[in-house]
Amino acid sequence: MNIMVTGGAGFLGSHLCEQLLAAGHHVLCVDDFSTGREENVITLRSNHRFQVLHHDICLPLNADVDAIYNLACPASPVHYQADPIQTMRTSVLGALNLLELARRRSIPILQTSTSEVYGDPAVHPQMESYWGNVNPIGLRACYDEGKRCAETMFFDYRRQHGVNTKVVRLFNTYGPHMRIDDGRVISNFIVQALQGIDLTVYGAGQQTRSFCYIDDVVEGLMRTMHTPEPISGPVNLGNPGEFTILELANKVLEITHSESKIVYKPLPSDDPRQRRPDIELAAKLLNGWKPRVELDEGLSRTIRYFQQALALS
Ligand code: NAD
Ligand code: UDP
Repeated sequence: MNIMVTGGAGFLGSHLCEQLLAAGHHVLCVDDFSTGREENVITLRSNHRFQVLHHDICLPLNADVDAIYNLACPASPVHYQADPIQTMRTSVLGALNLLELARRRSIPILQTSTSEVYGDPAVHPQMESYWGNVNPIGLRACYDEGKRCAETMFFDYRRQHGVNTKVVRLFNTYGPHMRIDDGRVISNFIVQALQGIDLTVYGAGQQTRSFCYIDDVVEGLMRTMHTPEPISGPVNLGNPGEFTILELANKVLEITHSESKIVYKPLPSDDPRQRRPDIELAAKLLNGWKPRVELDEGLSRTIRYFQQALALS
C-alpha cells in the first residue's frame, strides 16, 4: 500500500514509518518539521519506498495514497502551549483537510487522539465510554479540545460521508527519537539524570501516569489500520502499569546510577491527577494486543538512546 503518515518526522511517526517500510509498504511522510526532526528519518531516506513532503497540514493537500495515519500535532505540553492557536489549527483544520482527502479517495484514515480527551479524569481507570473532564479554557485546552473536536469530525465524516475512520486514544508513550528538549517527563528525567542535574518533579510527584513503550504503540496503530474487521474506535492504546511521578524519578535515578537530586517545582495548571488506560477493548478488537515492554526495560532502552544523543549534541 501507499501510506501517508502525517507527523512522520516526529517521535512516534518516525517509528511508524520505519515499521510500515519494514512491512513492505510505500510511505509518504508529511511533516512541517515544527517539532519533528530530520535525524529521526535520516536512516529511512535511503529507502526508495520512502518519501518526505514538507507541508503544513493546515493547508489542503492531495496525494496518491491508499491510507492515512494522522499523527501531525505537537504532543508535549511545552511545545503545544508555545503556539496554542497553531496547535488548535493543526488539530482541527489539519484533520479536516485529511478527512477531505480520505473522503475524495475513499480510503481509511486513522486519528491519533489522546488520553487528554479524558482531562483530569473522575473515572479511574479510563475506559472509552467515559466522556472526560476537560477545562475548555485552560492552558491545555488548545490540545485537549483540539483533539476532542478532531474526534467529533472523524465520527461525523463516518456518519455523513461513510469514510472509514479510526480513532485511537494514546496514553503517555516514550522511547528513542524523543527530543532532548521535548519537555515531557521521561525525556526530562533521563536527560537530567545523565547530565547530573536536579530532576524536576512538579507538585509533590503524587500524580500518576501510565507509560507505554513506543514499539507497543506502533504495533497497536498498525493492527488498528490493518485488521480485516473495520474498527471505528475510539480505542485506548497504552500500558496499564501506573506509577507516581516520584516513583518514576527514583526509577530513572536507579537505572542511570545518577547522583542527581530531586527538586520540587510548581504543578502546572490543570495537570491531570491520575491516568491509567482500560485496554480490554483493544485486546478484544486487535487480536489480543497488549503491551509487551515493561517500564524498566523501556527506560533502559530509552536511556541508551539518550546517552548517544547527548554524546552527539
Ligand atoms: P511529536 O511532536 O514528536 O510529533 C509530531 C509531529 O507532527 C512532528 O514531526 C511535527 O513536526 C509534526 N507537525 C506538527 N504540526 C504539524 C502541521 N501543522 N503540519 C505538519 N506536521 C506537523 O509528537 P509525538 O509524541 O510523536 O506525537 C504524535 C501524535 O501522537 C500526536 O498527534 C499526538 O497528539 C499523539 N499522541 C502522542 C502521545 C505521546 O505520549 N507521545 C500521547 C497521546 C497522543
Ligand atoms: N512532570 C514533572 N517534571 C517534568 C515534566 C513533567 O514532574 O520535568 C510531570 C507533569 O506535571 C505531569 C507528568 O509529569 O504530571 C507527565 O507530564 P508530561 O508532560 O510528560 O505529559 P502529560 O501527561 O502531562 O501530558
